[in-house]
Amino acid sequence: MRIALLVTTAILFARQADAQSLPTHGIRGPSLAIRNATIIDGNGTPASGPADILIIGNRIASVTFLDPVALRSPTTKRPAADREIDATGKFVLPGLINAHAHLQDERAHVPQPFDYTLKLWLACGITSVREVGADTTQKVIAIRDRGARGELASPRLFISGRFSNAPVPQTPASARARVRELKAMGVDGIKILGIDRDIMQAMLEEAHAVGLRVAHHAGVEETNAWDDARFGTTSIEHWYGIPDAAILDGRQHFPSPYNYRNETDRFRWAGRLWREADPTLLGKVLDSLVAAKVAWVPTLDIYEASRDLQRAQTQPWFSEYLHPTLEDYFRPAPSNHGSYFFGWGSTDETYWKENYRLWMSALRDFERKGGLIGVGDDAGFIYQMYGFGLIRELELQQEAGFQTMKVIQHATGNNARILGREADLGRVRAGYLADLIVVKGNPLENLKVFYPTGVDDVRDGKVVHDGGVEWTIKDGIPYSGPTLLAEVKSMVAQARASRSRKP
Ligand SMILES: [Zn+2]
Repeated sequence: MRIALLVTTAILFARQADAQSLPTHGIRGPSLAIRNATIIDGNGTPASGPADILIIGNRIASVTFLDPVALRSPTTKRPAADREIDATGKFVLPGLINAHAHLQDERAHVPQPFDYTLKLWLACGITSVREVGADTTQKVIAIRDRGARGELASPRLFISGRFSNAPVPQTPASARARVRELKAMGVDGIKILGIDRDIMQAMLEEAHAVGLRVAHHAGVEETNAWDDARFGTTSIEHWYGIPDAAILDGRQHFPSPYNYRNETDRFRWAGRLWREADPTLLGKVLDSLVAAKVAWVPTLDIYEASRDLQRAQTQPWFSEYLHPTLEDYFRPAPSNHGSYFFGWGSTDETYWKENYRLWMSALRDFERKGGLIGVGDDAGFIYQMYGFGLIRELELQQEAGFQTMKVIQHATGNNARILGREADLGRVRAGYLADLIVVKGNPLENLKVFYPTGVDDVRDGKVVHDGGVEWTIKDGIPYSGPTLLAEVKSMVAQARASRSRKP
C-alpha cells in the first residue's frame, strides 16, 4: 500500500510529500494526484479550490473539492495515487492551446530542431497546438503521430494542411481534389490564404462534405470576411480581411507605388487599414461572422514589433533561449517573411498603435456580439519565440480589455471549440483528457506568471523570483517545466557553440 493512502490531511501530506512520490518527468504512471489545487477552469468560471485532481492513465478521473473542516479530520479519505503533486498555493488550469502555430524545422533553409519548438511549447504550458501550414504536411503529421504515441515530448498536434502548397489549385475542380487529397493524408483541418472566391467556395463545400475545419489567413485579397461568413470558414486568422470588408470604397487607399509583394509596403500600410474601416459597416461584418459562427484567432502578438520595434528586439528570454537559426531569421532581410523592418520609424509605430486600438475595440465588440475568440501566437516570425509568443498574446488580449479569466477561457475552452474538441479538451473536468498545468502564482492577477522564465514578486517584504509553469501534463504525461527549459537552454548553447566553431 502506498503512502498516499495513509495521508489524510493537507498538512500531513505537505510534510510527507517527498521526491519519491513526485512524478517522473516524461513518464506516465498508472495514476497521479494533484493535491490542494486552486482550479481555474476553461469555461470562464471563477477560481475554485482547494481540490484534489485524480488522473488515471491519460484521463481526469475525478475532481474533488475539499471541505476545510473535513480536511482537518484524520478520517477524511482522499483519492489515492501512485504519484503526487502538491499544488498548495498554486493554480491548476487546463493546458493552454495554441490555435495558430507553425512547427518549423528550418528558418531560411537553415535546419532548426523540431525539439526546440516542441519543448518550448510544453515549457510554456501548451498541451495542444493547431499547426496551420507547413511546407510538408506529411512531415508534421508524422511528428503528430509520434507525439500521440508518446515517443517524443510534444503537445497534441492538430495539423491544418496548407491548401496552397504547390501546385496551387487554380480551378474549383482542383480545389476539391486538393481537399480530398489532404483528407486522405490524415490532416485535422485545412489552412487557406490568399484565395480567390470561386476556389474558396469550392474548397469549403468540399471541406464541409468531408468534415474538415478550415482556418483562413484572411489577408488583403479577393475574398474577405463576407466570404468567410458566406462559405462557412471555421476561423479567421489574424485580421486583415475583417476591416477590409468594411471599407466603403471597397478597397484601402494605397499610394500608387505600393506593391503587395514588398513586405515593407505591405506591413506599413496594414498599419493604416483599421482606420479606413467604416464603423457602422464594421459592426455589420462582425454581426455576419457571429451569425455564421466564424471564430477569430487574432494573433495580436505577431504584429507587436510594428508598433514597438525596440521592445520586440530586446525580449529578455532571447539571451539564453533564442536559437541562433531563429535569431538570424529575425534580422531584417527582404527574403525572410516578416523581417521587413527597413526604414521603420516613429510614424509607422504611431499608425500601428492606433491600428491596435481599433483592432482591440473590434475584438471586444465581436465577443460582446457573441463571437468566439481564440488564442494563437504565429511564432517563428517577427521576433516572436515559440510559446513565449502565446503568453504575450494573452497579455495583449488583456490589454484589449478582456478580464484575465476571459483571456484564459479564450486559450483553453474557446480554442478547444475551434478544434472541435470541446467534449474532451480545454476543461478541468472528470472524463476529460488529462491535459493540465500547475502554475506558480496567480494568472488571474498576472498573466506573466505563465512565462517559464518566471517573474519578480514581493512576498513578506522580500523580493522573490517565482512563477512559471511547474508541471505541464499532457495526455497524463507529466513534464517538469524547469527541466524542459534547461533542455532548451543547453540546446541553444550547443547550437551557438557549434556555430562559433565554424570558420
Ligand atoms: Zn501563421
